[in-house]
Amino acid sequence: MAPDVSCYACGRTYAFPRKRCACGEPLWFDTDPSAADRSNGGRGMWTYVDLLPVGEPRGIGVAAGGTPLIRVDRPGLDVGCRLYVKDETEHPTGAFKDRGSAVGAAWVADHGPEWIGTVSHGNMAMSTAAHAAAADLGCVVLVPADIPAERLAHIAQFDPTIVRVEGSYGQLYYDTLAFGPDLGVEFVNSDTPLRGAGHKTVAFEICDAFAPDVPDAIVLPTSSGGHASAIWKGLREFRSVGVIDTLPRLYLVQASACDPIATAYRDDARVVDATTAGETIAYSIANPDPPSGNRALAAVRETGGAVLSVTDDDIRAAKTTLSTEVGLSVEPASATALAGIRRLVDSETITADDTVVMIATGTGFKGRPDVHIDAEAVQLDTLEDRLATVLT
Ligand SMILES: *Cc1c(COP(=O)(O)O)cnc(C)c1O
Ligand SMILES: [Zn+2]
Repeated sequence: MAPDVSCYACGRTYAFPRKRCACGEPLWFDTDPSAADRSNGGRGMWTYVDLLPVGEPRGIGVAAGGTPLIRVDRPGLDVGCRLYVKDETEHPTGAFKDRGSAVGAAWVADHGPEWIGTVSHGNMAMSTAAHAAAADLGCVVLVPADIPAERLAHIAQFDPTIVRVEGSYGQLYYDTLAFGPDLGVEFVNSDTPLRGAGHKTVAFEICDAFAPDVPDAIVLPTSSGGHASAIWKGLREFRSVGVIDTLPRLYLVQASACDPIATAYRDDARVVDATTAGETIAYSIANPDPPSGNRALAAVRETGGAVLSVTDDDIRAAKTTLSTEVGLSVEPASATALAGIRRLVDSETITADDTVVMIATGTGFKGRPDVHIDAEAVQLDTLEDRLATVLT
């Protein structure tokens, strides 16, 4: 029997694979969290397999989740709060998307149809293609026509069927959900129920790491709003069974060149309006028409958090801090979270006593790092003398 999916906004219920409610909002799986046995010996996110619509897969899916939680408290680095990094860069394809792709691929492997698909120009495309390869599924990836060659190469190494699409990328999300069933493709887009089921497990891991305490805030970069919504769902499930009693405040950070959810939050609007995408180095979070924008707003409002935006200069500075002071290489989209924390500390929204978890969503090892390289060439026979001068 198909599991039920429901709407956070109006409460309507449907049978999966339906993905959007008649009211227009995205759907998520109904789960009975009280059924969960969290000491089942599952690895990584599969500790929570009872809360997922699929069983533990074979292949790289087993490596999803179970990422490190790192306390950032080195002397001399003042971040203005008790900061932890949830290091999602440790995933097989370097981003949290592997949690959702693992669930998506496992579902399609068990239930069909023949193909898994996604609409993405970056991490989600790469991740879906990798998990499809492991599960021996056909995979179709729809990318924007003007995608940079470097990013296309990262996706292509897993050999999905790649189609470059001209036209509205925002509309493409909805079109794929409409024509997917006829074409025999399960589209596991940014905020679809299967992807959300996988992504919520990061909230479980964070809660279990702090139990019986609860962190005061979770800060993450936001584009479609799928990740933020999934975290909200995970927190609500854990609250409903008493693992946590309060929800951490969710702070969502966008790049100011493309910040439709932050704009709606500032305007105190209920509904996120699409914007036109400006150029930003945080290309992974530049969705001008976020399909889970309204749901992300609801998550922020229920948890007492906020949505804010940061400039590319703030993002560059935060990225540099993470690599040179923390030793963590993240992509610019990820660094927005630390830039956001800086702003929240400046405005005293986050204070020194707050325990804050920053989600490092994606690795910096995929792109060409934007750094100044200063390395001299030295002959081996003069090396020791030279090092004696340099290493003082
Ligand atoms: C996808 C992605 C995001 C944004 O997640 P949404 O669910 O679209 O809000 C943030 N950071 C990185 C690195 C990503 O790949
Ligand atoms: Zn609805």
